[in-house]
Amino acid sequence: MLLRVRLRTAAARFADHGWPVTPGSYFNGARMACDRPTCWATSCHPILPDWDRSTDVHIGQWWRERPHSVLLPTGRVFDVIEVPSLLGIKVQDVTAPVAVTPAGHWMFLVRKGATLRPELHQRFDIVHHGDGSWIPAPPTVLPEGQVRWQLSPQHLDWQLPDPDGLQQAMVSALVSLDASFLDLPINARRSSFIPPSTVEAALRKAG
Ligand SMILES: [Zn+2]
Repeated sequence: MLLRVRLRTAAARFADHGWPVTPGSYFNGARMACDRPTCWATSCHPILPDWDRSTDVHIGQWWRERPHSVLLPTGRVFDVIEVPSLLGIKVQDVTAPVAVTPAGHWMFLVRKGATLRPELHQRFDIVHHGDGSWIPAPPTVLPEGQVRWQLSPQHLDWQLPDPDGLQQAMVSALVSLDASFLDLPINARRSSFIPPSTVEAALRKAG
């Protein structure tokens, strides 16, 4: 199926479930273009000037000619917490839709109204997308490759988790990462086998 049609189908599915959706620039083989003569942006960006306010939905019109990115404005139905893949892959015991960018950013969708916990807020590699922000949704194509679902909203029947539970799971994942990467002696870090007792001790130390 044509990429443009796949993007349009995905956009229509989000809209059918009451999720906000807006078109973004499209990859023209060299950069993310948007055909507006006054626009010099070369990365992924929304193309409608009022994308963060408008609730109009014109899927057929928006995806008629170009394979526009499918962008999901955040802060209306859901927020997104974006973390590096190294952390995202360690998050356990919480089921949330997760979109993954080709650059390895894991974007967890949660119910709106999240406030980042200090342990997450202080990290430059963790981003909270709320009001006035957006994320690219699958199957958007970026210069580096395609955005994909690690866990799709269909798979979870379009249910979104509570932001506090997800953040707790992220903090736990962060503690286990810091413990296994930073607190162990250098020779243990180089070893492919880490004795379980060492990990437990490191976790206790990390608190
Ligand atoms: Zn533009």
